[in-house]
Amino acid sequence: MRLSGKSETGKTGLINLGNTCYMNSVIQALFMATDFRRHVLSLNLNGCNSLMRKLQHLFAFLAHTQREAYAPRIFFEASRPPWFTPRSQQDCSEYLRFLLDRLHEEEKTLKALSSAKAPEKRTLIEKMFGGKLKTTICCLNCKSTSQKEEAFTDLSLAFCPPASLENVDDCGVETSTSATIPAGETPLNSVEINGGCDAVTNEGTTKDLSAEPNSETNSELNKGQENRDMSQRLVGKNTPSVTDLLNYFLAPEILSGDNKYYCEKCASLQNAEKTMQIIEEPEYLILTLLRFSYDPKCHIRRKILDNVSLPLVLELPLVPYTLSSVVVHSGVSSESGHYYSYARNVTGSGPSGLQNELDAEMSKEWFLFNDSRVTFTSFQSVQKITSRFPKDTAYVLFYKKQNNTCGFNTNSANGLWVNGDPPLQKDLMDAITKDNKLYLQEQELSARTQALQAASASCSFRPNGFDDNDPPGSCGPAGGGGGGGFSTVGRLVF
Ligand SMILES: [Zn+2]
Repeated sequence: MRLSGKSETGKTGLINLGNTCYMNSVIQALFMATDFRRHVLSLNLNGCNSLMRKLQHLFAFLAHTQREAYAPRIFFEASRPPWFTPRSQQDCSEYLRFLLDRLHEEEKTLKALSSAKAPEKRTLIEKMFGGKLKTTICCLNCKSTSQKEEAFTDLSLAFCPPASLENVDDCGVETSTSATIPAGETPLNSVEINGGCDAVTNEGTTKDLSAEPNSETNSELNKGQENRDMSQRLVGKNTPSVTDLLNYFLAPEILSGDNKYYCEKCASLQNAEKTMQIIEEPEYLILTLLRFSYDPKCHIRRKILDNVSLPLVLELPLVPYTLSSVVVHSGVSSESGHYYSYARNVTGSGPSGLQNELDAEMSKEWFLFNDSRVTFTSFQSVQKITSRFPKDTAYVLFYKKQNNTCGFNTNSANGLWVNGDPPLQKDLMDAITKDNKLYLQEQELSARTQALQAASASCSFRPNGFDDNDPPGSCGPAGGGGGGGFSTVGRLVF
């Protein structure tokens, strides 16, 4: 296993504050949305106590702290949806949607208060994640159409029935019962293997992920773990891709039966055809795979464990998108399990220049963010998650539009640029410098304590109090500043 601290990856982990991996995984995905991060870091929010300011503070620490992991306590308290119970597992997609909505509404309110000096009407969230969908409904009786436009910040993609993946002729009963039925309806024995409602442990989910990516032999081990998994392998050629799911989302749908459409012209319920079209493409396209369906027997939202292949490049009708982050859910229901993220730096591939060469170089590296731990990984590992760990499935995806219309203007500010990120405002820089000094002191204290303990062990003298000096909050791999801690000193930026 290759476990690297911040010194090796240059990235900072996030300490788990008690089942907060749903937040940590999403924050790392947002942080790695390079253009978004750079916009957030360059905002002038002096004296502001907004949620955006707290996100800026968090991003600044993630970018510049010398610590291996940061505890996002203030941000967690400020961004937790009121209906989320503290210390319990939550849906990371729901959290992400709530967070983006809060940031958007807050900026709108602040803009309204100072309307005179706000030439840009769209909020940062709209500029980065906002897209527009057009829904057209055509009455199949009178052929009249009605249209509606809707803004979105993410698209929720349902799993398509097998018939829509292949030619319709091919959709015998056999395929539809073997592969893509909802998890709640799988044969009894495989449901049992899927576990009681909550028998999911975190250990073992990611510890081997960054190990040898080339381990097809693992599929031998997985064999027989789950009937469902086996049947999936049998119909392996049917593994849908995100492109299939997106096409299914955009495919015309017939509204009939209980779902009939009320046509104004006919003044009655009619069969109708509904079509959705993306008419404004967001800079970052966030896709949530609708994996959770309510299971009335178990009173939980059960998970569809189907594997989905992730194209590195997603071809939308007008622009290609490239994969930037993948938030993985490990477990069998949304109320349990664990989240972690794969991500890399991707910016719009614009005209060549020093900045873009640096960005292109940075985009080759993939990182695995698992709470406090950050390790190097590869796209190959990302692709193989589910085949190696059947309960670990891609859940929320970030794709970056490949053009440069909204790229970050690197000439807009002067000062110290680090890895292409804009310089920080003075008060933020001061806060980080202060904390980095504190961290060095903690390391010194810990080294001195160890030395004393070593000395006392050899002459059987125990100094009082030293054992209580460990901060209680810094449990986990980040605690104590040991390991790679000292080697990070050379990276001090300020
Ligand atoms: Zn009609």
